Amino acid sequence: MRRSSHFASLSQHYLFPEIDQRKHLFLGENPHAKVISLGIGDTTHPLPKEVAEGISKSALAMSHRDGYVGYGPSLGLQHLREAIAHKVYGDRFSFDEITISDGTKPDLARFALLTGGKQKVAIQDPAYPVYLETSQIIGQEILLLPATAENNFFPDWTSLKGPHILFLCYPNNPTGVSASREQLQNIVDHAKNEGMLILFDAAYASYITDPAIPRSIFELEGAKECAIEWGSFSKSAGFSGIRLGWCLIPKELTYSTGESILSDWKRLISTTFNGASYLSQAAGLEALSSPSYHKIIEDYLENAHLLKQALAEKNIATFGGIHAPFLWADFSPLSSWEAFDHLLSKHHLLTTPGSGFGQAGEGYLRLSALGTRPDILEAIHRLKSLKI
Ligand code: PLP
Repeated sequence: MRRSSHFASLSQHYLFPEIDQRKHLFLGENPHAKVISLGIGDTTHPLPKEVAEGISKSALAMSHRDGYVGYGPSLGLQHLREAIAHKVYGDRFSFDEITISDGTKPDLARFALLTGGKQKVAIQDPAYPVYLETSQIIGQEILLLPATAENNFFPDWTSLKGPHILFLCYPNNPTGVSASREQLQNIVDHAKNEGMLILFDAAYASYITDPAIPRSIFELEGAKECAIEWGSFSKSAGFSGIRLGWCLIPKELTYSTGESILSDWKRLISTTFNGASYLSQAAGLEALSSPSYHKIIEDYLENAHLLKQALAEKNIATFGGIHAPFLWADFSPLSSWEAFDHLLSKHHLLTTPGSGFGQAGEGYLRLSALGTRPDILEAIHRLKSLKI
């Protein structure tokens, strides 16, 4: 088999391996150091008991002849699709417009199959790397829009012309910045006028505490005709290892040639996916009605607030971290890797270099507030002696 030329265009996956390598080198020289990670954006809070019990009940049911089930519906359990339509979207959509997945990352890869190559896609720089890489793998034409302090980390999406697929993610990973109703409405209006498709990643929607900020692209007028939304249980319910998410494609959404996108999406899913696990869907149903998550998310946001304060005291400007579990901290004129090395060697803190999310991230570090409170407090204590 010949190698796809698109793979040759991918940059090496260097970010997390390089972080690991530097950490191990440091620990080799300082074996007693207690390194605290403010780096990987993964959750640390244990599952609420009722959610874990949902999984075990579903597993035990499988041990009885009456409860055993084999393959499930590829599009997901109707109960769960209905619960999402009701609890997340206030019944503004039918369950039939929602499909259940094993998470946003794999679903975006499946969606790439639907778009095929040779479309123009616009992606913010810096961004969650999956948008860029799935687009590169299928040979899309890619336009990077820098998100910098000058534009308040909100590129001018409405300056784009021509048929584009726009990857939007608000609240944003890695900058932690959220988008106002007006900003999103302007993009939706522009996308409709220009025949563009918005792919909206709402992975951090549940961190929005201000009702004036939209949690879903579908809160905006006209979005049903130009947008698709992905939701994930990973950061809202600690399911990054359990795996569960959904995709919402309005029935009104069509290709420029008039055919339904939803109907092709369902066809594609039945060909490429055998459905999310029963166990994770059972857990998802519990999570949607669990009262515990409100407090868990509040705790992560409080972590972000404490970190933001500690950095402000050191005159380090930070962005985000108000409606998102990430802070985007400006360490320039140091490069991202210089700042990373400084925090690791002097304060034993692990962070993520902003340049790993795109060139426009140079000079920044992404700090995650998804750690435990004791770790965050210890990190803050160490930051008190920060001298840059
Ligand atoms: N989208 C964004 C912006 C993310 O940051 C992440 C995970 O870090 C995901 C999607 C992944 O979601 P999932 O775990 O549902 O695949």
